[in-house]
Amino acid sequence: MAEARVLENFVAGDWVRSDAKEALDVPDPSTGSLLARVPLSTAVDVDRAVRAAQKAFPAWRETPVPDRARRILKLRSLLEDHLDELARSVVQENGKTLEEARGSVRRGIEATEFAASAPTTMQGFVLEDVAGGIDTELIRQPLGVVAGITPFNFPVMIPLWMAPLAMVCGNAFILKPSERVPLSAVQLARLIGEAGFPPGVFNLVHGGREAVDALLVHPGISAISFVGSAPTARHIYTTAAANGKRVQALAGAKNYMIVMPDADLEKTVPAILSSAFGQAGERCLAGSVIVAVEPGGNALVEALGTEVRKLKVGAGWAPETAVGPVIRAEHRARVLEWIRTGEREGARLVAQGQVPNRTDGYYVPPVLFDQVRPEMTIAQEEIFGPVLSVIRAGSLAEAIDMANRSRFGNAAAIFTRDGKAAREFRYRIEAGMLGVNIGVPAPAAYFPFAGWKGSFYGDLHVTGRDAVEFYTRKKVVTTRWY
Ligand code: NAD
Repeated sequence: MAEARVLENFVAGDWVRSDAKEALDVPDPSTGSLLARVPLSTAVDVDRAVRAAQKAFPAWRETPVPDRARRILKLRSLLEDHLDELARSVVQENGKTLEEARGSVRRGIEATEFAASAPTTMQGFVLEDVAGGIDTELIRQPLGVVAGITPFNFPVMIPLWMAPLAMVCGNAFILKPSERVPLSAVQLARLIGEAGFPPGVFNLVHGGREAVDALLVHPGISAISFVGSAPTARHIYTTAAANGKRVQALAGAKNYMIVMPDADLEKTVPAILSSAFGQAGERCLAGSVIVAVEPGGNALVEALGTEVRKLKVGAGWAPETAVGPVIRAEHRARVLEWIRTGEREGARLVAQGQVPNRTDGYYVPPVLFDQVRPEMTIAQEEIFGPVLSVIRAGSLAEAIDMANRSRFGNAAAIFTRDGKAAREFRYRIEAGMLGVNIGVPAPAAYFPFAGWKGSFYGDLHVTGRDAVEFYTRKKVVTTRWY
């Protein structure tokens, strides 16, 4: 174990050793075998990266926007050439299936495509004659050095929501990836280096809390983009804002899916299965509570139960695997404890999937609970595992009220053939990303991505035009020529 390679940070275009005294193991979740060790970088490492980024910023900011966009297009083409390699890295360190990993890398590439439209999206506007002979124009300028702090569940996609957009807007960027999936970030850094970004425009600092806290208080950093769990998001938002930084902090979720009695079950059941059990439930858009509007509940639970029993859990590599392992042994223990809690609270475990007969890897059986009540903790807390709860409701209004009582508001979905019900849902539901007959309502990168309520701290969402607003500041110039 001691011989496993300790990863290096990427600073000013070079791979450099961290000052860290401590390093964490990075195991393969499908076997538990050691892949690498990740250094817990210190404030000194962070400061080194900030200085490199500050040094790179002036020339990068003066690089014409179309040239910056061409660099992003070069990166896009490298990502496309290395899609398989990136997807394999995601499977290896995160555990999701190869198909899921490919899909997630593709969504990351999509963000580079949107970023490359900066010569259009960064444009400001002008009003001639705000007074006699006087014109006013609004221009957008980069912030300086910005940092991105990312979670374990999308090792390639989420860094790509941030870095290309921040850089194309003229900022220098520091990525602090999840210490649980650092290897895909290393690959990304290599490709960004190969794409010809000047040294220091992109930097990678590995680590955990110490590195994050150093970023949050460093006076050289102007903005923080964060995606992760709710308690960390609150800490990031309050600390970074108290230190004068612009912040967007995307947090945890508990997503409700309302199924009306008229829903087309043949299409609805596969959509629910993929939403609840895809990526082993480790997805911020995972549907984890179904509200079945009566009299449709029994038919839905029966159809779901039949399919859940067929779900095969296994290594992400195996073609027959529907549900991969969860990220760590401790997380597996937590999810199993949630399942016991559900049973203790009186929910009925109606079906469970097939776990492999092996002692290595962090495998959890997919579980379907019926007779869940809104006050049960399994209906309220984010489990982040393959556990789906069904609550029964008497009407759409009651179902919407139940969903709106959640402290989270990331995503929500409705399954119905009734346009009026869908409109009522869209109008009243308190969540940021909605699906109508869609189980995973992930907005494409040219739309903003974030939730409401306890699922988001900040104002401007990630990706889409919000990202251009987030990574630039506005300057308004009023001019009179004599
Ligand atoms: P996490 O909060 O544990 O970690 C996220 C990042 O924060 C990591 O880089 C980690 O090093 C850092 N971090 C962790 N604890 C910290 C602390 N105490 N102080 C400072 N930094 C700290 O999240 P995770 O387990 O990696 O990711 C899963 C969570 O992310 C889930 O709650 C999920 O819903 C959420 N998520 C949300 C979205 C969204 O769009 N809202 C998307 C993906 C994931």
